[in-house]
Amino acid sequence: MTDLRLAPPEDGLRVIRRLNEAGHEAWFVGGCVRDGLLGLAPKDWDICTDARPEEMAEAFAGWHVVETGLKHGTLTVMLRHRPYEVTTFRLDGAYTDHRHPDTVTFTADLAEDLRRRDFTVNAMAWHPEKGLADLFGGREDLEKRLIRCVGDPGERFGEDALRILRGLRFAACYGFSVEPGTASAMRAMAGDVEMVAGERVRVETEKLLCGRDAARILRDFAGVVTDVFPPLRPMVGFDQRSPWHRYDVWEHTVRAVEAAAPEPLLRWTMLLHDAGKPAAFFTDGEGVGHAYGHQKISAEIAASLFDRMHFDTATRERALLLIRWHDVKMRAERRPLLHLLNRFGEEAVRQLIEVHRADETAKGTSPRGDADAWAEEITAALDALLAEQPCFTLAALAVSGRDLIAAGMKPGKALGETLQRLLTAVIEGEAPNEREALLALAARIDR
Ligand code: ATP
Ligand code: MG
Repeated sequence: MTDLRLAPPEDGLRVIRRLNEAGHEAWFVGGCVRDGLLGLAPKDWDICTDARPEEMAEAFAGWHVVETGLKHGTLTVMLRHRPYEVTTFRLDGAYTDHRHPDTVTFTADLAEDLRRRDFTVNAMAWHPEKGLADLFGGREDLEKRLIRCVGDPGERFGEDALRILRGLRFAACYGFSVEPGTASAMRAMAGDVEMVAGERVRVETEKLLCGRDAARILRDFAGVVTDVFPPLRPMVGFDQRSPWHRYDVWEHTVRAVEAAAPEPLLRWTMLLHDAGKPAAFFTDGEGVGHAYGHQKISAEIAASLFDRMHFDTATRERALLLIRWHDVKMRAERRPLLHLLNRFGEEAVRQLIEVHRADETAKGTSPRGDADAWAEEITAALDALLAEQPCFTLAALAVSGRDLIAAGMKPGKALGETLQRLLTAVIEGEAPNEREALLALAARIDR
């Protein structure tokens, strides 16, 4: 495996040829070489070069380029609407704040540029004629499916603690193991991730959670994950003493993450849905464990973590809703479904079904597949119900506040309550969603 199993895009090759013609070295580097060797489609084809920023600008004079990162040595070449990032070989200086290198030094030596990269599998370069530049055994580690730091793991994590999460992210997404020396440095230094910018923590954790091997990593590196997110620590090994639960809170959580569709919103929700259990826990006279109100505490814990990671408002609010109501009662019947639709809206109801399904699957107390069958049944009922275009919002009600005012009712709080009662009557099937009937009912309520 010394050649890419995937042909690089012609446009990327053009960028490399252009730099070569101008007398510079240029290589594909990093993720695209890793993925190309594995035969997976890379997200981007990044290029590195010994050309200095001003030399790059000169080589691409007349091309469509974006100079956003030129100070750090990055120029983006746009070809057929696709960006190709070209970066000058560089060394990173010290990371005194554990966030960014204090200084960036350019170099003419590819080896130095590869040495600053995080993992051996990410530290390879490839050139169409020269082939693979692999100075740290990256190809062999790819074959062994291993994540291993370039150089001394402790030093490398000391420079940038985010690499700990990146390493786990790659292991989760590619199904790799972590080389023992790298793993023990991860465990020893996970507390340093606290100093890393929240946005970066979010990006890597989210990818980890959506990885095909997320469960294995969350299980094997529970200590790392809970050092990164200390409020989750009490979950690990927490015995639920409940006939409804076969596993401790962390193992249940891991299984719930795995059972949910690999989408960030759902995976974050499952990771955090029971975070409040240890705090809410008590045992009754029979020694059975309960955790009433844990949903609210889970949502509070989630809110604090989301804020630290600077989540966007839309994701934050929706995840908090799903966590808060993760075990709201859901039945595959008309009226209960209409009430749920009224309260949460269609999109969130569908997400809540997925959350329930994952949660039930992960309890390990009902036969396998039961939760799937339940989700299918309630989804079918929901689809059938929605196909009728039923009324479950004030907006869809056949009368509006204006209609009621036109019929002589006074604007104000009571009017709002009347509308709400009309909607309830329609949902309950006590009144048809028709103008005359609702006006008559409103007149009766108003009296
Ligand atoms: P993806 O396919 O998810 O984009 P990637 O390996 O391309 O994976 P990027 O974050 O795009 O990851 O980074 C590109 C390359 O830059 C990496 O392959 C690695 O060589 C290097 N790199 C990125 N972040 C770091 C870091 N924190 N420390 C050291 N090297 C890094
Ligand atoms: Mg990349």
